Amino acid sequence: MLDVVKMKESCRICARELCGNQRRWIFHPAAKLNLQVLLSHAVGRELSRDGRGEFACSKCAFMLDRMYRFDTVVARVEALSLERLHKLLLEKDRLRHCIGGLYRKNNAEDGSVAPSAGTGGGVVGTELGLKTSLWWIYQSSRT
Ligand SMILES: [Zn+2]
Repeated sequence: MLDVVKMKESCRICARELCGNQRRWIFHPAAKLNLQVLLSHAVGRELSRDGRGEFACSKCAFMLDRMYRFDTVVARVEALSLERLHKLLLEKDRLRHCIGGLYRKNNAEDGSVAPSAGTGGGVVGTELGLKTSLWWIYQSSRT
C-alpha cells in the first residue's frame, strides 16, 4: 500500500501541494457530496481511479461544492419559472377563450368562420415551446 503520508500529494484539480487535513479524497463513496460525481460533471467525462492523484485540496472541493449548490438553485428556479409560465399561459388562454366566445356571441356574421383550431387545443403547447418561451423571457429580461 502506498504511504500517502510520506508522498508529496498534489491536488488532482489545481496541482497545488496538499498538506495535512486540507485534502479531500475524491473517490470517497460515502461522502455527503460525492466529489467524483461532481468532478466528472465539471470535466464532462466519467472519472475513475486511474492511479493518478486521488485527492483534491479544500479550495477545489469548496468550488465543487459551490457548483453543486448553483446547480440545485438553477434547477429550482427553472422549475418555478416553468410552473409560473404554465400558469400565465393558462390564464392567457382562458382570457383568449373568453374574449373569443364573447365576440362570436355578439358578432353572429362571423359565426360561419370556424375559430382557428390548433391554437385552442394544446393549452400550454409542447415542452419545447415552453422552453423557448422561457428562453425568450430570460433574454428579454437581460436587455
Ligand atoms: Zn486544488
